[in-house]
Amino acid sequence: MSTLMPERVTPQQEERIRELRAENWFLDNPHNEVNEAVDDLFLLLDEARAELETERMRNVACGVAALGNTEKTRAERIRKDNPYYSASYADVCAAVDREMALRQERDRLAEQVRVLKEAVQVSCITSRLCRFSGPCRFCRALAACERIERGEG
Ligand SMILES: [Zn+2]
Repeated sequence: MSTLMPERVTPQQEERIRELRAENWFLDNPHNEVNEAVDDLFLLLDEARAELETERMRNVACGVAALGNTEKTRAERIRKDNPYYSASYADVCAAVDREMALRQERDRLAEQVRVLKEAVQVSCITSRLCRFSGPCRFCRALAACERIERGEG
């Protein structure tokens, strides 16, 4: 890098260079390729900034998708034609879909366990099996249901 150029151009310096370029200030320069180089650099800079902004928004979209685990937020997801849609966004959405499906499955199984517990409790009471010989098969089933509820399998 030239010793005339600072390591980093401040926003104020960049604005001044753009103004000078707009005024064709560099045309006085006998080396016209400097003008083209400056134009090319600004073009590259603008493109890189726009690209960075798009990537930043794609990252934001992934975060929003990761937190959106309800039917309402799922319906609000962006689609493939959106500039902020990405393969990673699709991956996050797929993971959230799996989370939602597992939650639904968990609720369904918990309800099943609840119904089974009720049934075995009633069965023990009506059969009065526990009166004769230790915990009856219904009470053992009840204990198994409670182990499942505690996550002990
Ligand atoms: Zn019993």
